[in-house]
Amino acid sequence: MYSDEDYIQLSSIQHYVFCARQCALIHVEGLWAENRFTAHGKIMHERVDSGEDETRGDVRVVRGLNIYSRRLGLSGRADVVEFHHEGDCDMPFPVEYKSGQPKRDICDLAQICAQALCLEEMTGFPVREGAIYYGRPRRRLPVLFDDELRLATEEIIGAVHEMIETRTIPTARREKKCDTCSLLDQCMPGVGDKKLESYIRGLYLSDEATH
Ligand code: SF4
Repeated sequence: MYSDEDYIQLSSIQHYVFCARQCALIHVEGLWAENRFTAHGKIMHERVDSGEDETRGDVRVVRGLNIYSRRLGLSGRADVVEFHHEGDCDMPFPVEYKSGQPKRDICDLAQICAQALCLEEMTGFPVREGAIYYGRPRRRLPVLFDDELRLATEEIIGAVHEMIETRTIPTARREKKCDTCSLLDQCMPGVGDKKLESYIRGLYLSDEATH
């Protein structure tokens, strides 16, 4: 069990899989910046969130649901959770919205699997399947929460906890993915950690000076 202040955000899972350093800069150092990729994602989430909850046949659709897991020390917001009425039960079925296309890594899969783990703990019902809706192309892909994905997701969650607890900032390595990273300017891959530390220190100092 984790205390409230040790909870990590659901979004940190995706950040960690994309780049452990990006995750640390956001969730340890508190840096954030938008680029066109994050802005598209934000617009899509706002659109999904602004919809009304509704019931379609045997399915109740709940938007922007706050979810958590005490066991995993995890909390966040699910875009959409469908509750499929089966017998006497309403079985949760998470649906995550992404503005882009399916990724090669498991960042989206791990994020929605983490939602499934939260929903299982909150409702007591097994969550075996969910879906990710991608904006390019507009398609809803089913996701099966099998043992392999669950294990990988829990390992990522454990690694994020450890990184945040120990305040570890992994070293930057310039890779192709850096071109799409919203923190490229702050991270300065290839520049070296000493310069980054002084840059971050400078940010805090100028922030203090304006207050
Ligand atoms: S610029 Fe590259 S190394 Fe730096 S946080 Fe982004 S993806 Fe990671």
